Amino acid sequence: MKRLKGIGVSPGVAIGPAYLLLTGHLKITRRILKPEEVTREIRRFHRALEATIKDLEEVKRHIPEEMVHPLSIIDAHILMLKDPSLVRETEKLIKESLVNAEWALRKVLKKYQQIFKELGDFYLRERIRDLEHLIDKVIFTLQGQNNHVSLNQPAVIVAHDLSPADTARLRPDTTQAFVTEVGSRTSHTAIVAKSLGIPAVVAVKGVTEEVNPGDLLIVDGLAGEVIVNPTQEVIEEFLDRRLECQERRALLTRHAKEPAVTLDGHRIAVRANIELLDELPLALELGAEGVGLYRTEYLYVTRKALPSEEELFETYRQVVEGFKPEIVTFRTLDIGGDKFATKLDLPEEINPALGLRAIRLCLKSPALFKTQLRAILRASLYGRVRIMFPMISGLGELRRAKTFVQEVVEELQKEGLRFEALPAIGAMIEIPSAVAIADLLAQEVDFFSIGTNDLIQYALAIDRGNEHVAHLYEPLHPAVLRLIKQIVTAGHEAGIEVAMCGEMAGEVFYLPLLVGFGLDELSMNPQSIPAVKNLIRRLNFTECQKLVEEALKLSTPEEIRVLVLSWFEERDLTLFWDYF
Ligand code: PEP
Ligand code: MG
Repeated sequence: MKRLKGIGVSPGVAIGPAYLLLTGHLKITRRILKPEEVTREIRRFHRALEATIKDLEEVKRHIPEEMVHPLSIIDAHILMLKDPSLVRETEKLIKESLVNAEWALRKVLKKYQQIFKELGDFYLRERIRDLEHLIDKVIFTLQGQNNHVSLNQPAVIVAHDLSPADTARLRPDTTQAFVTEVGSRTSHTAIVAKSLGIPAVVAVKGVTEEVNPGDLLIVDGLAGEVIVNPTQEVIEEFLDRRLECQERRALLTRHAKEPAVTLDGHRIAVRANIELLDELPLALELGAEGVGLYRTEYLYVTRKALPSEEELFETYRQVVEGFKPEIVTFRTLDIGGDKFATKLDLPEEINPALGLRAIRLCLKSPALFKTQLRAILRASLYGRVRIMFPMISGLGELRRAKTFVQEVVEELQKEGLRFEALPAIGAMIEIPSAVAIADLLAQEVDFFSIGTNDLIQYALAIDRGNEHVAHLYEPLHPAVLRLIKQIVTAGHEAGIEVAMCGEMAGEVFYLPLLVGFGLDELSMNPQSIPAVKNLIRRLNFTECQKLVEEALKLSTPEEIRVLVLSWFEERDLTLFWDYF
């Protein structure tokens, strides 16, 4: 039995066999063969080679004949893989050094790299990259053959990394949990796992090497622990804990649909963050009073072709109708950063979080933006809709985005397509420059929503997806608290509502502070709603305001943490920390 530590990002306990999903970043171990295994290993190598060539031929079939250049590149790649000296040298190494095919292939590649490097020719140096990529593909296929578990049966996925789109495609009925080597609490991969209710632990160093396919794993998504091949005693202990977790959740869920009003009568709207239409029933069941953040980009990143206006409209209509009479807040496309749509062909950026993402991309791509706005406006006829722009950094951007809405309104009117009166328009406040001018922005929107995931990333200069700096990502940093205070004050002085929709909004430990700041709405992962509503009902608004006053006098996150901790203890509310 081995215990591995990581960051728990999606709560729940799961037990199941490991399924090693090999995404990029291939690590190869050397295996020494017995002489009688050589023939089988060479056969394995040939099978992987043929499968890779077949894959490439399949890709070729989908490329139109007139696209001569891409076709010729793939032909060249197929020839590289069929190259007799590559095949011969790999076979020779397997035979003579008694090593596995993956190891032999990497050795052959190293030799080629050396030869190409010495040639010093730029064109040839680029070709070696192609070869590296191709050999990785073969190794990938070879390693894939090692999976004894199929994903058609329930399993725990173990991978170096999963993209947000990979995660959105996971099926909760077959994916019991997942474990990755990279990632952090506010990465989109973690956020999607929570929405799907799949327990997940990220930043588990070396897990793809420590775990073999088919190993039995216990994943504790709250404590951030992975136990490899647990003893019977440990298994029983975890089964008990899982039962306890389920019972507590059932208890909380019983009151989930009741409103969240503090002991002294202050009401806060508790809404859901959703990514896909499938999440609608669960969000309603868990007591969501509408949607505070609809991450509309997931309809783009989980598929190959861009959705049409009709398809968007149909999906949006169902969401809006499903939540009627409550509000649905459409966050316009936030593609870029760590979320990509294959069809959009975005440039590769060194610094994607600071690059062409969200509203910047939409303002640059009028057709993309307008198609979405048209669908949202048309869906507004079926319930209550708000529009919210992501990554607003200044007034110019906001005004241009609003102009697009106005243009779409006029277009729809001209075409005779019906829609509700102009919906409320809001700005996400998630860039420090927007906080600095929050008073100005507040004059031109109907509401604010604080995106703490990005706001903290940009204010503290901490990449939200990077496990190496995850420990520095600190919502209790005095700078973060001051920023929140400034946003709420600016919003309320202008008479508009201020919501929060970053992950911070759904963490019960921060809740007394968030209530004390006077936020009008908290929008979160649906799974967190029952516990958040429950705790709000035990809080006193005036006391929370005093807590904020005290917290703002302190100088470090540690001091603030101690203050909040003792606040919970004095009121006997610490049991809420185990909820989510
Ligand atoms: C945020 O940045 O806090 C937010 C809610 O948006 P996203 O996580 O999708 O960037
Ligand atoms: Mg954001």
